[in-house]
Amino acid sequence: MKTVGFRSIVLYILLAAFLLGAGYLAVELAIHGGDWAMQPYNGHLYDTAELGKITDRNGHVLAYTDDDGDRLYGESEAIRRALLHTVGDTRGYISTGVQHSLSDRLTGYNFITGLSDLPFGGIDRDVALTVDQDACAAAYGALEGRNGAALVYNYKTGEVLVKVSAPGFDPENEPEDLNDDPAYNGVYLDNTLSASFTPGSIFKLVTLTAAMEKWPDSWSQRAYACEGSMEIGGSEITCFDHTAHGTQTAAEALGNSCNVYFAQLANDIGGEALQAKAEAMGFNRSFSFDSIPTAESEIKLSGADANQLGWAGVGQHTVLVNPGHMLLLMGSIANGGEAVPPRLTKSAGLLPGLSGGEKLVTAAEAVQLKALMRSNVENYYGDWNFPAGLDVCAKTGTGEVGEEKGPNCWMVGFCDNAQYPYAFAVVVEDGPGGMAAAGPVVSAALSALVD
Ligand SMILES: [Zn+2]
Repeated sequence: MKTVGFRSIVLYILLAAFLLGAGYLAVELAIHGGDWAMQPYNGHLYDTAELGKITDRNGHVLAYTDDDGDRLYGESEAIRRALLHTVGDTRGYISTGVQHSLSDRLTGYNFITGLSDLPFGGIDRDVALTVDQDACAAAYGALEGRNGAALVYNYKTGEVLVKVSAPGFDPENEPEDLNDDPAYNGVYLDNTLSASFTPGSIFKLVTLTAAMEKWPDSWSQRAYACEGSMEIGGSEITCFDHTAHGTQTAAEALGNSCNVYFAQLANDIGGEALQAKAEAMGFNRSFSFDSIPTAESEIKLSGADANQLGWAGVGQHTVLVNPGHMLLLMGSIANGGEAVPPRLTKSAGLLPGLSGGEKLVTAAEAVQLKALMRSNVENYYGDWNFPAGLDVCAKTGTGEVGEEKGPNCWMVGFCDNAQYPYAFAVVVEDGPGGMAAAGPVVSAALSALVD
């Protein structure tokens, strides 16, 4: 009897171990099965499986597989190039394209039967995106061959309407010199989500928000004098063209984009407080566009001297920002503080407006920033730069990146308009200036969206 009892215990232990192992395998398969099936070394699946159709928000076909098994893309070269980084390439080198990131859905993979159809019917392999192909093509065209990134999203629903990264190429006619021609450097990288750039003056919005937090009742009256340049911490801080802006309030200094004002302001705020506020506004962390993580916006002010802190306050020194994060920050300001999470697929996610965004600025800060950014366009940039009646609120930036290359030219902002609740973030590399280079891209995208 003793022997039988001992054997029973051993059997029970083995059975328990088997069940634990089987359970673990089932859970792993459910969570990671799609990843295993879609690994690049399972190339035969990715190449030969009939990938579903990808369409834009209006049903225009952005990618499909023809009867010969060839993968074909949008209806014109302009659309194919503009949508390259959003749709992805045939070889899967652009890992942030939905053709790669949503390969489970596009191949109909499911964790019950793998790639086979479910017993109760086939699986819908098609994916409808939120982007508008014509607005994307308009934004790409307005980049005029320069490298950069353009994003527009609906800050009420989270739908991404424009997502464009340059340089790009036509995925149906891949250039042979793609890996040799320097013009294609970084061509597989999606500049909207996977890169960060020197922001220049768009960062003054962050410095000003830190001032709002430090002096909630008196920040707008804080005045500093500008003579075109000023020695801070032993070296010069200069304004563009050494223009002397005189003594200004916060709104005037933001409109004039006065470096001397904001360098003094940053030093009075202090590095620790400025960094803490920037982090509350989304720096030094990643966000998610559906399942695609963004590169981090970076700020590190520990150990910065007074001159470095001054330059950081105007978006130079070592400050970097990601366009996707800037888009969400603009959405947060436009939407009373709440940054609605962005989405790229029409059918995925929660119902529009119910998805629950986090606050990157407070409701009070949002109201104040909105008024300042509206004043920028009304009194400094000119409403005539944009389609009529949109009440555009914006800030430009010119991020200096060194001697050999022209600056990063930025425009970030939103339409304060119930019918067109659109936020935008545009950066153009090696351009003449924020308004001159990025303004037309914003305008082209908005014009296509409100037509
Ligand atoms: Zn100035």
